[in-house]
Amino acid sequence: MQAKRCYKQRIGTILLAGLLAVSGSVATPQVAVAASAKVYVAPDSGKKYHSSKDCRGLSNANEIVKMTKKKAKDQGYTKCKICN
Ligand SMILES: [Zn+2]
Repeated sequence: MQAKRCYKQRIGTILLAGLLAVSGSVATPQVAVAASAKVYVAPDSGKKYHSSKDCRGLSNANEIVKMTKKKAKDQGYTKCKICN
């Protein structure tokens, strides 16, 4: 009985430490900005992502999609030379 309770307590401590670690990283401004930076892509007219939707690289785009920079990179987009 005693050993079982001890085990449960340890698991609880590990979970708590994990939660603290997660909330700690979210609270770090640099990490939050990098993860949530928004860019604009034109899926039907190129494989570039743009930091501004007013970029002339997007002027001919029929559709402009806003997404995080991470997602754009994951989908194979590279950064625009005009607005970056
Ligand atoms: Zn651009």
